[in-house]
Amino acid sequence: MDERCVCQEIQGYFLDRAFDRLKLKGPRRDLLLSSFRETQITVPVTLRHNGENVLHTFQGYRVQHNHARGPFKGGLRFHPDVNLGETRALAQLMTWKTALVDIPFGGAKGGIAVAPEQLNDTEREELTKRFCQKMAPIIGVHDDIPAPDIGTNPQVMAWILDEYSKSHGFRTGVVTGKPVELGGSAGRLEATGDGVAHLAHKVARQLSLDPAQSRVAIQGFGNVGSHAAIAMVNLGFRIVALSDVHGGVFAEQGIPIDRALAHVRETGSLSGLDGTSPITNAELLELPCEILIPAALEGTITSGNAADVRVGIIVEAANMPVTHEADQQLQQRGVVIVPDLLANAGGVLASYYEWVQNLQQFPWERETVLRRLEERLSLTCDTVQELAREREIDMRTAAYELAISRVDHAIQLRGF
Ligand code: NAD
Repeated sequence: MDERCVCQEIQGYFLDRAFDRLKLKGPRRDLLLSSFRETQITVPVTLRHNGENVLHTFQGYRVQHNHARGPFKGGLRFHPDVNLGETRALAQLMTWKTALVDIPFGGAKGGIAVAPEQLNDTEREELTKRFCQKMAPIIGVHDDIPAPDIGTNPQVMAWILDEYSKSHGFRTGVVTGKPVELGGSAGRLEATGDGVAHLAHKVARQLSLDPAQSRVAIQGFGNVGSHAAIAMVNLGFRIVALSDVHGGVFAEQGIPIDRALAHVRETGSLSGLDGTSPITNAELLELPCEILIPAALEGTITSGNAADVRVGIIVEAANMPVTHEADQQLQQRGVVIVPDLLANAGGVLASYYEWVQNLQQFPWERETVLRRLEERLSLTCDTVQELAREREIDMRTAAYELAISRVDHAIQLRGF
């Protein structure tokens, strides 16, 4: 099954369940589920191939799902599998996520079907700026604000800022996740992983787990996974397993994260890290642990491996890492799942704080950003858990119900 189907199927099931429970149907349901605007473009770029200039075209997308509560907001992904269906599902997820953490944004997502590592810096810059030229009419500080996602980074945001500013004047707030030197926020880079660790700690405490006695496995050691690992260690947890696309490493006594980071910087992967033994990505998911953090791809935990997952808590750092069949099996076994909607919302929260700083032209200290982020995530977690208790449902269903109700209410108030 390709990634597009995984995203749409997983979210479709959870949404249908929440809509049915909320008794939202007919045009009201259609309005909440349909995109406001879907833009598909062809991006021409001249690439150097065997010493010659060759014209290539790439498909680019921006899906603006809903802006009832504020400007569209969402990441920009550069990956060969990017397509309209996947972008649409991820745009919707952003609408629910911004509503859940109660920030004045809607939801969007964009991307280009490209393997960015196969382009050099000049080519990546040209691709990004051509994409921005064509998208400029629909993005903007108060219209739609892109941010980094898989395959993009602060440099890509700086190129968008530059291109957009040529026709609109210097507008730092048109993108978030920028380099700090160009109006980016202190703390943005580590925000998603930091939020994941904060929620893992909160839920572990509720279950009377002692961090020092709690083993943690993290799948994915990119932006989110590595910063979650650093923050988990700072909170006193023991990381016994880590992995990336090449495979994983295991050490019962705990993996020193600074050494893992240095090893990845030097060799490009975790494989061969001193003091660890190799494991596969599949084995990592089946380790007996207190906490599992999937921080890589969609659809990682399925009906095929859920029975072998032996943890008490799953914190969904990645978007949609658990299929709905696996979700049911795990919930029945009493596994506590902190859903993606809440678990990785630290990224969009920090993006919101960056945008606010840009509007005010007044940068905040890193501590201020991370403190506000942790407070908001903690408060949202309390609200979701209270609703879950009240309605006798799991945290995911409660999160969706809360988010959908807020968007629906905004639509009713605005009257469109
Ligand atoms: P990234 O590209 O920086 O890192 C991804 C990591 O996953 C890498 O270590 C990669 O080697 C690993 N990986 C890739 N394929 C794998 C596979 N088949 N098996 C195991 N590991 C694999 O991406 P990221 O920014 O860390 O994002 C990770 C996830 O978190 C994505 O689902 C993304 O949508 C989600 N997310 C990210 C943010 C953010 O702020 N970056 C915010 C919210 C959600």
